[in-house]
Amino acid sequence: MGIKKTVSVLGLGRMGSALATALVDQGYDVTVWNRTDKPAPAGTTRKTLEEALDSDVVVTCLSTHDVQQPLLTGRIKTLVNLTSGTPEQARATARWAAANGVEYVDGVIMAVPQQIGTPQARILFSGSEDHHVLQVFGEPVYLGEDAGLAALYDLALLGVMWSVFGGYLQALALVGSAGVTPERFTPFATDWLDVVGTFLPEMGEETHSGRYETDVSALDINVSGLRLLTEANGEQGLDTTVPRALHDLFERAQRAGHGAHSIASVIEVIRK
Ligand code: NDP
Repeated sequence: MGIKKTVSVLGLGRMGSALATALVDQGYDVTVWNRTDKPAPAGTTRKTLEEALDSDVVVTCLSTHDVQQPLLTGRIKTLVNLTSGTPEQARATARWAAANGVEYVDGVIMAVPQQIGTPQARILFSGSEDHHVLQVFGEPVYLGEDAGLAALYDLALLGVMWSVFGGYLQALALVGSAGVTPERFTPFATDWLDVVGTFLPEMGEETHSGRYETDVSALDINVSGLRLLTEANGEQGLDTTVPRALHDLFERAQRAGHGAHSIASVIEVIRK
């Protein structure tokens, strides 16, 4: 068995601490650095930033790319970025890394700190294909050479999640106006999400082919439904931002001539 690489973790927030602990558990020699004085996870060694950058691999897990960028120097050998950011921020860091002889892996963690080190922690990554250290954190999935891909998938998937959460909270407020408890309603919502998920592959295919003929449900009827949903929320004195935004988006697709088409045709408006 070869000698394990030395690894530094920059950032001892909730996620960075979990990453450092997972590395220690797998027998790595782990150096940590944090801006302010936070306790170093058991088994790690706290050093200065300059010393931390000398490890074979530097893992960053800070709040944003903006606070991270000034910390990076060409002294780094391999940079594994796990700080969330936009695809363009990842690509800019990749260009900086290439210009400075730094190997660059850009990853996103689709999990919470408590899942780090288990197969439930899916790590999407792009840029360099070396996933040596990422395997310690969870299940790495390589997306491609374009360093921006991981951030792109991350934000796209979080967008799905936030839309579902927004819809769910709106639904709880609506049924709650009639005294229905979350405990009573939530099983209906989770069953419904299973059904809704089955529509996605066909919908995705339609957006790819641009063929929106449907014998299932036309956009027209969905615009009417969204109008009813917006009115129902308004009648109960609830905020209507979420249903109204969807109604307005779908209605724009209807006005653009997609009324008889499937819901997938809304992507034509989104793409402009
Ligand atoms: P925390 O808020 O717990 O930690 C933030 C870290 O960033 C701390 O180490 C903090 O240092 C550091 N930091 C903030 N500002 C600066 C600065 N100006 N200079 C240097 N360091 C700074 O965040 P998390 O650990 O939860 O998240 C870290 C990253 O992981 C984020 O990009 C997040 O999106 C991502 N992530 C988090 C998940 C989660 O469930 N927590 C899930 C998936 C991804 P200090 O202690 O000194 O303030």
